[in-house]
Formats: sequence, C-alpha cells, structure tokens
Amino acid sequence: MMTSIELDAFRRVLTTRLSELGTGFRKREDLAVDASPDDLDRIQQASDHDFVVSGLERNANQVREVRAALDRIDAGTFGECTGCEEAINRKRLAAVPWAELCIVCQQAAEQGTDTPFRESKTAFDLAA
Ligand SMILES: [Zn+2]
Repeated sequence: MMTSIELDAFRRVLTTRLSELGTGFRKREDLAVDASPDDLDRIQQASDHDFVVSGLERNANQVREVRAALDRIDAGTFGECTGCEEAINRKRLAAVPWAELCIVCQQAAEQGTDTPFRESKTAFDLAA
C-alpha cells in the first residue's frame, strides 16, 4: 500500500511530465503558425518528416499514459497493474511512473501474448 506522501511525490512527477509534454505540443503549433506555405511544403517534403510525426505520436501516447496514471492516483488504484491487479514493482514505478502494467504483464504484452486478465475477459466474451 502506498502512503499519501508517496502518492503526492508521484503526482508531482506526473504533473511535471504532463506539462513538459504540453510544451512540446505548443512548440509544434507555433511552427505551423509562423511558417509560410513554402516552408510548410519544405517541411512536408523533408526526409525526416516521418520521424517528426512518429515523435509526435509517441508524445500523444505518453500524454494519454500520464493522464491515465494521474486518474489512477485519484481513483486510489495507482501502483496496481491494470492487467493482473498485482502491485507494480516500486523500482519500476520510480523509473516509469506512468507504467500501467507490472513487468510480467508488460513482457507478455510485448511478446504479443494476452495478459491473464485479457485471457479471462476473452473467455467471458466467448461464453456470453
Ligand atoms: Zn500484471
């Protein structure tokens, strides 16, 4: 069980991370507003365009993950794996405060196999 002091510390880290990610979005909007149509053409033709887009997608994914983690703090479920509901290793949370899954479920997800939670849900869906 996590203390309120620990939760406050994680909330601060997550809020800071969220504002950092938000700053990245504002910079991109400034670029679009300031650039002339010719500049935009050049940007779109640039070979690193795909890289920029995938970076923005990663950014958007992380905004979603950080917001979800803040929601879990409010809901009192922060630090629990959303897959198996076991406590996530504290070192893992310190390194990745927005982690949704414990290391076991994360590895299962990366290997493309379902978490126990999703397997049981699928079984339920099949039975329904
Ligand atoms: Zn898990």
